[in-house]
Amino acid sequence: MNAITDLHPFLDGKPKRLFIGGKWLEAASGKTFETHNPATGEVLAQVAEGDAEDIDRAVAAARAAFTGPWSKFKPAQRQAVLLKLADLVEAHIDELATLDTLDMGAPISRTRNNRQRAVGMLRFYAGMATALHGETIDNSLPGEIVSFTLKEPVGVVGAIIPWNGPLTATIWKIGPALATGCTVVLKPAEEAPLTPLRLAELCVEAGVPPGVVNVVPGFGETAGAALAAHPDVDKVAFTGSHFTGQSIVRASAGNLKRVSLELGGKSPDIVFADADLTQAVPGAGMAVFANSGQICSAGTRLFVEKKIYDEFVGRVADFSKTLRVGDGRDPETQVGPLVSQEQLSRVTGYLSIGRQEGARPLSGGERLTEGALAKGYFVPPTVFADVRDDMRIAQEEIFGPVISAIPFTDIEEVIARGNNTTFGLGSGVWTRDVGKAHKLARAIKAGSVWINCYQAMDPAVPFGGYKMSGYGRESGIQHLDEYLNVKSVWIKTD
Ligand code: ADP
Repeated sequence: MNAITDLHPFLDGKPKRLFIGGKWLEAASGKTFETHNPATGEVLAQVAEGDAEDIDRAVAAARAAFTGPWSKFKPAQRQAVLLKLADLVEAHIDELATLDTLDMGAPISRTRNNRQRAVGMLRFYAGMATALHGETIDNSLPGEIVSFTLKEPVGVVGAIIPWNGPLTATIWKIGPALATGCTVVLKPAEEAPLTPLRLAELCVEAGVPPGVVNVVPGFGETAGAALAAHPDVDKVAFTGSHFTGQSIVRASAGNLKRVSLELGGKSPDIVFADADLTQAVPGAGMAVFANSGQICSAGTRLFVEKKIYDEFVGRVADFSKTLRVGDGRDPETQVGPLVSQEQLSRVTGYLSIGRQEGARPLSGGERLTEGALAKGYFVPPTVFADVRDDMRIAQEEIFGPVISAIPFTDIEEVIARGNNTTFGLGSGVWTRDVGKAHKLARAIKAGSVWINCYQAMDPAVPFGGYKMSGYGRESGIQHLDEYLNVKSVWIKTD
């Protein structure tokens, strides 16, 4: 045993392979890549590096399963598989949470907390598996002619996920596929491929037939691009940056495959002077500091009503200084490292840009390098005051624990400024005035509006973007429609 194999039962020192057609295979090229612990820089495992040839093999396996055994599964049988998988995820949640923490850095308190969400999603999709149905529609044609619709699985789904929540991101893609009868080729993010691979093992245990779920780790420009362009993939479900989302849409043109996109954001979080500030201070703080700001719907543009601006922003900065930054494996840790050296460079780059643009850091502002933190990619929670709308830190997605705090004076002004972004994923409003709350709920151009809370999520409630934050919805019954075709059937009966 060496130190790495002591960390986790899944880390056995052997290279991790691709999961294709129910088998564990090496990449056709024989290549592997390393995956690291971002808290320490240690290599956790070598992982087979899939590319276009492996994507071909996986798509062929997914197609064979789709037209073969999986198509014979009745809804209740797919439901049973999903329920078994939910039980397995629940039974193994500590192990899965630890793997997420090791591979992408999030605090164990957060990844363990995913239990309800991960298991709840699988049980929600299980429920939906037997609730899908078409409609009988009265038509107005002369004579006797009946019309009704069938809902049919779209087919082979290419799922491309990011690294910021591997367990839940994987379930968010394979759950609706299993419920609707689709098959999946999942490409995990190169930064955090381990949990999706472990989940593939649990899929086998749950009775998912070979080829229904395939997992092909590899890089975006090779494996990801091959999946997005593949002529035998019927739909791509993508979560990641808007730049990649645009290239996925371009790649989809070859066979006009369906695409759903959950992309980035620069979400406004609006605090009125009448809000309950004792709730709003930690609420606005954690709207950005949770997962070290690596959440696409983080409320990074903090608009604060001018009369409380200095007090409120000061209190958020004080709150940020109380948060414990460290290795995610420590149960006391509240803010873990950023996922990679690349992400560290990006976030610290924005810290410099913010200062150069004239924003004033009230907390954080520099990479942490004391003691053991020097080996990892740690940036403390940072609050920039005196931010103007035209600064880059107020416009561009940083994907780090950085709040850009901006003053405003009235409601119409903050609606216009809040919406003045190319993105539209999340948004927050803190107020005790129900009239203001309703007005903002309608006026904000974003897929989610959280009032007196932030980042509430539930498997039954749809989530997704407006504008450059993408299209399509995940969670809710709308999610299942993304994986279904509607067929109209006409039968002349006279
Ligand atoms: P992030 O900046 O959050 O890493 P990306 O959009 O780069 O977001 O990555 C999200 C996912 O998209 C990852 O799995 C990555 O490998 C994949 N990806 C990156 N580039 C491409 C591409 N050109 N085509 C398909 N997938 C890609």
